Amino acid sequence: MKSDLASPHDVVIIGAGIVGVATAALLAEAGRKVLVIDRSGICEETSSGNAAALAFSDILPLASKGVMGKVPGWLLDPLGPFTIRPSYFPRMVPWLYRFWRASSASVQAKTAAAQAAIMRLAESEMLSLIDRAALRDRLREDGNLELYESEAELAASQPGWDVREKAGIAYEHVRGARLAQLQPGLSPRFVAGTFVPGWKNVSDPKLFGQAIWAYAEGLGARLRQGKVVHARPTDAGAILRLEDGTEIAAPHLVIMAGAWSRSLAQAFGDTVPLDTERGYNTTLPVGSFDVKRQLTFPGHGFVITPMATGLRVGGAVEFGGLRLAPNFARSEAMLKKAARFLPGLKTENGRQWMGYRPSMPDSLPVIGRAAAAKNVYYGFGHGHLGLTQSAATARLICDLIADDRPAIDLSPFAPQRFRN
Ligand SMILES: Cc1cc2nc3c(=O)[nH]c(=O)nc-3n(C[C@H](O)[C@H](O)[C@H](O)COP(=O)(O)OP(=O)(O)OC[C@H]3O[C@@H](n4cnc5c(N)ncnc54)[C@H](O)[C@@H]3O)c2cc1C
Repeated sequence: MKSDLASPHDVVIIGAGIVGVATAALLAEAGRKVLVIDRSGICEETSSGNAAALAFSDILPLASKGVMGKVPGWLLDPLGPFTIRPSYFPRMVPWLYRFWRASSASVQAKTAAAQAAIMRLAESEMLSLIDRAALRDRLREDGNLELYESEAELAASQPGWDVREKAGIAYEHVRGARLAQLQPGLSPRFVAGTFVPGWKNVSDPKLFGQAIWAYAEGLGARLRQGKVVHARPTDAGAILRLEDGTEIAAPHLVIMAGAWSRSLAQAFGDTVPLDTERGYNTTLPVGSFDVKRQLTFPGHGFVITPMATGLRVGGAVEFGGLRLAPNFARSEAMLKKAARFLPGLKTENGRQWMGYRPSMPDSLPVIGRAAAAKNVYYGFGHGHLGLTQSAATARLICDLIADDRPAIDLSPFAPQRFRN
């Protein structure tokens, strides 16, 4: 057995997705010696192909009465915005039960309050990390335009806008010339929209994550490529075993392995109801359509994002676990709709992708300490919002490791919150 037990790092992070690299950056800034372990490299998996949004206004949980009402219709449409692969359905039942419980008005209100708190932190931490890493040129500040096909659809969305307004999020309902000015060339089926000016995007999520990593590496953080196949607690910290047999000692361990975090957390005494919402998209070449800002189609569960490296069309939620093969008919279905919504969109030469959102039933990430191990921490389960909340998660983990009072109340994010 090879051994790396005497390595000079004091914090080991499992996972070099955007959450892991942002955390490496903040820990390295704080003078920690950080080792990140990843089986595939820097932002090569879920964090590579997402919709690039810093969706700070997205504080509503996925489980809402509105969504629950739509689920039966969506489930009947195998290529619709929300599907469960039939063979995976039995595995999903406990998660779906918790998802349904999270849709009650009282739980939703608590979740939205917790999301609003972490989003305020997310915005300030992300923008200041971007500045410290000199990455302002990777930020797009064009806002988001949500589009409706009827006045009734806009009216149905109003309670959600009211919640956001109370949390201080600015929005503007738009029609007619203002709508056409915000996005020229839209299909006339869209009669109204909501413009959220504070919404931001990065120019390409994979390149952005890699640039954050370059900053972290400049401060001394190091990457070890390898798959962690076994983890166990010690008196203080953990010992990890990689696939090639190497053992690595972690005086502090942070599990940030996205949708693959569940079994790692189990090794430290925590059973978390983490599953994956698989999402699909197609990235078209730059110039496929002049999209002015991110466009969201809430009735269809997908978005169109203009990026420096192409136009990304996608979204959707598919429950199918971590092993079933992708069904790229879903990417094609969204692309076909996009061509109807933006007449003239060039749909050729796209690159299809599927990614695994790490999802908790209440739409809140897991951020906190392990139940049964000292110096072991978690930062995973960010669902649709991992890029958005990465720098906030990094700040909170730094606070925990330094034994400082966390910047926000962490009880809504506790790893043990589903124990009963
Ligand atoms: C279609 C789609 C669109 C999205 N759009 C947005 C958006 O616009 N804005 C937003 O904020 N979020 C969005 N998301 C969600 C976002 O992509 C995720 O929440 C985020 O990427 C999760 O980051 P992560 O670092 O937790 O996990 P990941 O990026 O999945 O990284 C986890 C890493 O852990 C590594 N790993 C796992 N197990 C092991 C092991 N045993 N040993 C070693 N390494 C291991 C993996 O190789 C991987 O690199 C979207 C997701 C999808 C699918």
